[in-house]
Amino acid sequence: MGEAKNTHDVCHKPLKSCWIPQALILPIKDNGKTPILISFLNQKTIDTIEADGFVAEIIRTNRKKTVSIKVAEGKVSVVAPKTFPAKEISALVAKKQRWIKQKLAIQNNVLKVQPKQFIAGESFSYLGNNYRLKIESGPYPDLKFQQEQFIATVRNISANNAPAIKQMLIKWYQQQAETILRERTKSYSEVIGVTPSKITIKLFKVRWGSCSIRREIQYNWKIIMAPKHIIDYLVVHELCHIQHHNHSPLFWKTVAKYHPEYKECKVWLKNNASLLEI
Ligand SMILES: [Zn+2]
Repeated sequence: MGEAKNTHDVCHKPLKSCWIPQALILPIKDNGKTPILISFLNQKTIDTIEADGFVAEIIRTNRKKTVSIKVAEGKVSVVAPKTFPAKEISALVAKKQRWIKQKLAIQNNVLKVQPKQFIAGESFSYLGNNYRLKIESGPYPDLKFQQEQFIATVRNISANNAPAIKQMLIKWYQQQAETILRERTKSYSEVIGVTPSKITIKLFKVRWGSCSIRREIQYNWKIIMAPKHIIDYLVVHELCHIQHHNHSPLFWKTVAKYHPEYKECKVWLKNNASLLEI
């Protein structure tokens, strides 16, 4: 049985899998039937209510059984039966405002991330901080990180240098990832008392790291864009899998011992994966 590879995601699907449900469905009367999400096709009139820090759109429908609150693309909408009093909608929205605000915060974070253009003045994340890109002309293409900025050297400054700069940046990130992840793994493996047989830094599509039953650890180099405590969480997470090849309570207890704020890191990774894209 030892041949099966034990791989696991620290973060599965960065943008789509959200730990908070996409829509809240609130039954008005509990008549034993499962509440259903009301279709927008039945909408009649549209109104809005102002809540603490956001505006919710009220969509009236002919359906009678449920009120649903939806947060999509940074907008809040409440679908309610025609006869349901506005006062009660306000009360429901107020009651659920914590959930709504969490959803809004996550969506705004995702929405504000624009695809990178690799132009002068644009910011790039490294160890959780943003640094600006400066573009200079010179005889040899190169990328340096100097005095808190990325400096890309290109031959022809007026040409489209985006693809070349992107490649140079990726190469630079990968080099940093090699150094930092190996160093952090060495430090933590001494503390935890485990020894990985192999460390590989590569590109994963939907995960941050993995640890096989043969103690081979793999990391996604993109983690190097995240803050240091998040990188440490990933390292501790994978190293603890050498002792526990699962996500059992005992595994998490071990993670907590070496990285007490692991829960916040887990949530951070789920919510901020879009910041670690290039
Ligand atoms: Zn794991």
